[in-house]
Amino acid sequence: MGPPTALFPVVFTKSTHNLNIIQRSLRDTSAVKTPSITAIVIEDEPEIADLIRFHLEREGIATTIAHSGQRGLELVTSTVPSLVVLDLMLPDLNGLQVCQRVRANAATAQTPIIMVTAKGSESDIIAGLEAGADDYVTKPFSPKVLVARVRTTLRRLQLAATGADKADRRELIGGRLVIDTARHVVLGDGVPVDLTITEFRLLNFLAQRPGFVRTRDQIISAVHGQNTRLSTRTVDVHVTALRMKLRDLQSAIETIRGVGYRFSEVGSVEATVVDG
Ligand code: CA
Repeated sequence: MGPPTALFPVVFTKSTHNLNIIQRSLRDTSAVKTPSITAIVIEDEPEIADLIRFHLEREGIATTIAHSGQRGLELVTSTVPSLVVLDLMLPDLNGLQVCQRVRANAATAQTPIIMVTAKGSESDIIAGLEAGADDYVTKPFSPKVLVARVRTTLRRLQLAATGADKADRRELIGGRLVIDTARHVVLGDGVPVDLTITEFRLLNFLAQRPGFVRTRDQIISAVHGQNTRLSTRTVDVHVTALRMKLRDLQSAIETIRGVGYRFSEVGSVEATVVDG
């Protein structure tokens, strides 16, 4: 046993060692496919529910199935999962009712919901998005598409957790598009893009959630300002103007026919689909 001062290097080394272990285990955790992520699939058709569970679990997402709206709502409320996959046509409570109740409960108000709807029913999709669903897939759907939507949703959660989505300056499409909300400046390939206030708000609103569809009504309420009154038709006009100003980047604003618009970071979104 040496003099007391000799303890310091030992203690220091030990704590550094522990820190290394913690850092390594954090790295290991992030390398593993999201082990603590949970999903509840609310779907009354057993084959579809099993298919969804199979693909989510392959992503490392612990998945529980509920075959009715009421049961699903109970499970979501009691377990607060990372994510909900919600069919619209369900016995007892339908998907819209489930969605509204999940949103109305403070504990689950932020829980991401991906809705599953019948193909071609735009009015259902709009109703679902406006009831608070974050995204949707249409039946029959490709599991790859569903997994891509789930990943996008979870990535958004990670961004929200790190506060990156609240940053004043957002870089999108691999840095080709920069939105600086503090200065109200947009750069496209490094060149300032001269936008009206409405166009700026519109772009910023869509770009807050790349890969997610926004309905025209959602755009109207988000973009609405003191001197702007938008109608569904004028949303389209502003989108057209915005696209022209974005020039080479205009394909980032996608039209989702009958539903609304989506900001797409083409490169990154496609890449996640391909490796699924
Ligand atoms: Ca159903």
